[in-house]
Amino acid sequence: MTSLPLIPAVPDKPARRAALPQQHLADLDLAGRQALVAELGEPAFRAKQISNHYFGRLVRDPQLMTDLPAAARERLAERLMPRLLTAVRELTCDDGATRKALWRLHDGSLVESVLMGYEDRVTVCISSQAGCGMACPFCATGQAGLTRNLSTAEIVDQAVYLAGVAASGAVAGSPARLSHVVFMGMGEPLANYSRVVAAIRRLVAPAPEGLGLSQRHITVSTVGLVPAIRRLASEDLSVTLALSLHAPDDELRDELVPVNQRWKVAEVLDAAWDYAARTGRRVSIEYAMIKDVNDQPWRADLLGRLLAGKLAHVNLIPLNPTPGSRWDASPKPVEREFVRRLRAAGVSTTVRDTRGREIDGACGQLAAAEDSDIDRAAAASA
Ligand code: SAH
Repeated sequence: MTSLPLIPAVPDKPARRAALPQQHLADLDLAGRQALVAELGEPAFRAKQISNHYFGRLVRDPQLMTDLPAAARERLAERLMPRLLTAVRELTCDDGATRKALWRLHDGSLVESVLMGYEDRVTVCISSQAGCGMACPFCATGQAGLTRNLSTAEIVDQAVYLAGVAASGAVAGSPARLSHVVFMGMGEPLANYSRVVAAIRRLVAPAPEGLGLSQRHITVSTVGLVPAIRRLASEDLSVTLALSLHAPDDELRDELVPVNQRWKVAEVLDAAWDYAARTGRRVSIEYAMIKDVNDQPWRADLLGRLLAGKLAHVNLIPLNPTPGSRWDASPKPVEREFVRRLRAAGVSTTVRDTRGREIDGACGQLAAAEDSDIDRAAAASA
């Protein structure tokens, strides 16, 4: 643990001006869609009609919207429903309960989304950026850097697509209705702030304006961009905040989550407690268990002292080692001792299940695998 990765100078701006896709109806609220439809010379009620197809019935293909006259359908589709996501791969595992989609965007960027079915709920994990600029050394996405922010509709469309998959009954033993969305795919959601907040508004607005999910069932996971956490607390939203802490001390967190060089542990936890107080929502503290790096009993005790008495829940994540990584997951007995110490300090703690490991399900690895396939193909054809 010698050289620290540099934090990006301006964490929320992509290195180069990368092109967002054409506008889509999910970029707009209902009033915006109505204005646009009127501009196209169509009656305003078409905005509701098309929204009802997309958000209410989860139909993404304009050709299936047969109650729209063909000419109107074509005009509306061209202006309001460009194809944003092209499936490159879809993989399932855990007996069909986990399904991963790898998408190619209009500019060739790759992003991924995951659907996870449980007995009582269906969760989708979505991406907010192509790549990520936060450079956490244990994360596959962090290695490649940031390509660009996703548009609001590119974010929403991942959830709408997977909600449609769930509605088709594809996930046996789970409810057919999507209930939870977590921003834990690729990217740092709070570095793409306005588009992510707009996407959340689409996810929670009742149909036909949006998907009608409960705010409490949406989780925004962040490395800890303090000003953005404070701004999120001031929105009229009460989504769940997950903070990727990964270390209770600045020395180690400076390395594991490089943005800690700018906003220290004490500062980011302060922002988290203010968020909890403003929203009444328990903050989820994410902690990847990395063997001999952050899993020592003294770090459990220090974490316990930082969190005791706070509106917090610890979610331990067994590290999913990225290819070529020098790091490994903590052994189970070490993990159990870490949990025991946190609970003894009065901190509610669970260990996350590890869905999708055999399909590179965790943490940016599918896109990374696809990229290396492409690299290999390019090398072979060179
Ligand atoms: N940028 C956001 C959201 C994306 S990652 C954030 O950092 O919170 C979602 C969670 O997965 C984060 O807690 C992240 O630290 C964790 N994660 C990333 N790579 C991982 C890996 N290889 N093993 C275990 N957890 C990982």
